[in-house]
Amino acid sequence: MDLHADDHREIRDAVRRLCAEFPGSYWQALDRERAYPQEFVAALTKAGFLSVLIPEVYGGSGLGLGAAIAILEEIHRAGCNGGACHAQMYTMGTVLKHGSDEQKRRYLPLIASGELRLQAFGVTEPTAGTDTTRITTFARREGDKYIVNGQKIWISRAEHSDLMVLLVRTTPRNEVTKPTDGMSVLLVDMREAVGNGLTVRPIRTMLNHATTELFFDNLEVPVANLVGVEGEGFRYILSGMNAERILIASECIGDGRFFIDKATAYAKERTVFGRAIGSNQGVQFPIARAHVQVTAAAEVVAKAARMYDQGISCGTEANMAKMLASEASWYSADMCIQTHGGFGFAEEYDVERKFRETRLYQVAPISTNLILSHVATHTLGLPKSF
Ligand SMILES: Cc1cc2nc3c(=O)[nH]c(=O)nc-3n(C[C@H](O)[C@H](O)[C@H](O)COP(=O)(O)OP(=O)(O)OC[C@H]3O[C@@H](n4cnc5c(N)ncnc54)[C@H](O)[C@@H]3O)c2cc1C
Repeated sequence: MDLHADDHREIRDAVRRLCAEFPGSYWQALDRERAYPQEFVAALTKAGFLSVLIPEVYGGSGLGLGAAIAILEEIHRAGCNGGACHAQMYTMGTVLKHGSDEQKRRYLPLIASGELRLQAFGVTEPTAGTDTTRITTFARREGDKYIVNGQKIWISRAEHSDLMVLLVRTTPRNEVTKPTDGMSVLLVDMREAVGNGLTVRPIRTMLNHATTELFFDNLEVPVANLVGVEGEGFRYILSGMNAERILIASECIGDGRFFIDKATAYAKERTVFGRAIGSNQGVQFPIARAHVQVTAAAEVVAKAARMYDQGISCGTEANMAKMLASEASWYSADMCIQTHGGFGFAEEYDVERKFRETRLYQVAPISTNLILSHVATHTLGLPKSF
């Protein structure tokens, strides 16, 4: 059996070569300014890595999530960060699976060529939190337009995106039978929207993630930009969320491997008490434990991606993959700081930056408690707590 049959080795090698052009000093400078990695995203787009999920007929490579996770893992293993552009991969599923032929013809070739950026995914709201059915951003239909009012929070890359996949209510929650009914997905053209009913306000965070708050004040969106059927949007977003969890999990695997590579190299080279610190089992074992955890998590991530690509329902696997990978990367991050001693805190080693970056993934795109709750009630049949 070829254990590496779906390993996408050529893609991985090509991503590594591209990332070598963007060393730690590039990311450190951006991090200081909280600036967007324009050149890195342009290079990934030009090389075709961001359009791997777009079918060939629309100018992409027509590959599956298996290829996408290989790309994001290698980006993160190299010390780079896919957070600036990964949304193009997971938002794509919503357009590909549920968009009309006209929407696909209109947008996908331009996204594949890099002329249009589909990088923003607008779901979270300040008062709803994780309970997405409580969103109140509302799109009222008037003729051939929707008039959108409301607010979103934590919408990343909104300033660096031409299109946004936006979840809104089109029927109030108290007027639908199931709370998940009555929500719809709109494709918002950010070039027309900003300043004409949409205000974008950046939020400074502990990591460089270009995240924002959005305010909608009578924003007009053509009805032609409705994705799929009105009222069915939650279902469309859920399948996109499974892709998102698997893709983010692959970034965590890349982060974990970055920390293990760094710690292993440092432990071999740093001499204290006349010998390499890595000769001490107290230093070796945490590195080995990180490797065991990341290797195990990577298997679950690969399984979830295979299921997604085969059209098999994979909500539980996508959740488990994200949880295991984010915990493995966080353990590895902590181990890496400890292995480096004081130098773990120095900007030039990239460890502290990656430590801050990988912490996010136990909260976003879904927090660990919510994953445990899903597994407890959906897989194990325990009583629902909410
Ligand atoms: C940097 C960043 C980027 C983001 N980018 C995007 C984006 O591009 N688009 C987007 O739509 N969203 C984005 N998000 C939002 C992200 O998905 C949410 O922050 C995340 O899902 C958690 O939701 P919340 O912050 O509202 O937490 P809350 O729902 O308020 O939860 C707070 C805490 O309480 C816990 N909790 C809540 N309810 C329960 C319960 N019943 N049982 C046990 N524990 C519970 C949670 O696990 C969590 O730890 C981003 C967030 C951040 C920080």
